[in-house]
Amino acid sequence: MNPSAQRTEIERDVVVVGAGPAGLMAARTLSKAGKSVAVLEARERVGGRTWNGRVRDDNGVDHFVELGGQWISPDQTRLIELVDELGLSTFQRYREGKSIYLSPNGERHEYEGPVFPAADSTQAEMDKLIKILDDLAAEIGAKEPWAHPKAAELDSISFRHWLEQQSDDEEAIDNISIYVASGMLTKPSFTFSALQAVLMAASAGSFSNLVDEDFILDRRVEGGMMSVSETLAAELGDDVFLGTPVREIQWAQPDPSTEDSLNNVKPDVRNGIPNNGEPGEVTVVSDQVTVRAKNVVIAVPPNLYNRISYVPPMPRDLHIAHQHISMGLVIKVHAIYETPFWRDKGLSGTGFGGGRLVQEVYDNTNRGQNIAGGTAGEEDAYGTLVGFVSDVYAEEMWHLPEEERKQRILSAMAEYLGPETMEPIAFYLSDMAAEEWTRGAYATSYDLGGLSRWGHLQNQPVGPIHFACSDIADEGYQHVDGAIRQGERAANALLDNG
Ligand SMILES: Cc1cc2nc3c(=O)[nH]c(=O)nc-3n(C[C@H](O)[C@H](O)[C@H](O)COP(=O)(O)OP(=O)(O)OC[C@H]3O[C@@H](n4cnc5c(N)ncnc54)[C@H](O)[C@@H]3O)c2cc1C
Repeated sequence: MNPSAQRTEIERDVVVVGAGPAGLMAARTLSKAGKSVAVLEARERVGGRTWNGRVRDDNGVDHFVELGGQWISPDQTRLIELVDELGLSTFQRYREGKSIYLSPNGERHEYEGPVFPAADSTQAEMDKLIKILDDLAAEIGAKEPWAHPKAAELDSISFRHWLEQQSDDEEAIDNISIYVASGMLTKPSFTFSALQAVLMAASAGSFSNLVDEDFILDRRVEGGMMSVSETLAAELGDDVFLGTPVREIQWAQPDPSTEDSLNNVKPDVRNGIPNNGEPGEVTVVSDQVTVRAKNVVIAVPPNLYNRISYVPPMPRDLHIAHQHISMGLVIKVHAIYETPFWRDKGLSGTGFGGGRLVQEVYDNTNRGQNIAGGTAGEEDAYGTLVGFVSDVYAEEMWHLPEEERKQRILSAMAEYLGPETMEPIAFYLSDMAAEEWTRGAYATSYDLGGLSRWGHLQNQPVGPIHFACSDIADEGYQHVDGAIRQGERAANALLDNG
């Protein structure tokens, strides 16, 4: 990698903006096909929203934590293949013993199997809602949800309001909405559409898959998910430039017919340009490096497209579309203990509570290379819990003083796993919303009506500019698998165009 390039100018076939999994996979695919590439990354590290971190305990011992994306589900086949190809290994999330369900009034239930121990009538309503969503996901699919005849209708109603039209059981609605709202898009269920929820389900194979935590949160990579990006970047060597945010992309010739001298409007490409996707002349200006290339792949989350100046400005459709896609907000909580104490109580560490401050808790104990000096397959003696505080609760927590925030979050986790939860030896909160080059978590999604209006544009190249990101994926939407697929897709589209 090239950490300290000094304001150089270089030429490549393709320049990739962003060294997350999507950008690195695009660069690798292009490089393997014989194209010369440069990857320009704003941060001083690769991996984007996958990030291996450390947290120091009260005794000065450092523990491994994954601050961003970590889990792989069995349907994420492209990522599973790649992990294998890169020589990395995976391990399963601990899931022995009973799980905990907190009902909306805080009642605690221990249960086994995939189904919450809610009242029979609530369970029946949940089954009904899951079936409706499974059917819609199968019918509409993840490829082009905007093109389906029901798209406009389902995109015009919030997921919450839509669920309320299907059921009047508040607890069933809370529990179903958790899987998409706080659990995936990390936005309140009244802020995104039923169509967005169907896309999330279709992308995971079905709504039933989203409901099954043993499916969705199946495996982790030994050495952390970030090691996928680190291994890809190592293959690319000096073609990856770190610490060099892209500021400007010169990408097209203005269309003289758009000039309006009466109103002092200079020519631009407001109506779009011909030859979308084909090679052109691109100059990408970043803090350290300027790259001249035939194509550019923008592999940053869509909420950051507008952080780059385009010369000339993008066509008007994209100006509008890019304003309707925004990041969710979630705090990933990491708490380390001397031992995984919950296991001694016959608990798996898994807990759910629709509408609670911490709505999900899991055993996230490390394995193998994640432990300092650890060997493959070895399990950490320390126990790690991970919890999630989503959307409005995350906002509330970030406004509290640090110690009060910690106590509130630990108390909420203790409701699931008992008083020992209050005494971690190390505690850390992932704060992706404060990161300039991400600005939220986990990913971006459209506002109400946005997917049906603008979704069809998200994967279309404009001139020599191609886009790749997990947030515009069909399979693996908002996940690392989607990022990998997107990187390959953009690279192959570019190769097809010569
Ligand atoms: C807390 C958290 C938990 C998650 N959990 C999971 C999980 O368990 N499983 C899963 O599959 N997914 C998970 N995800 C989502 C997953 O991490 C993302 O889907 C994936 O990282 C997206 O990859 P990407 O390459 O599309 O984008 P990113 O990973 O966001 O990479 C984009 C890169 O572009 C860079 N960049 C941005 N702007 C510029 C610029 N102007 N110039 C140069 N570089 C720029 C950024 O610094 C970044 O490195 C999680 C995400 C978060 C935040």
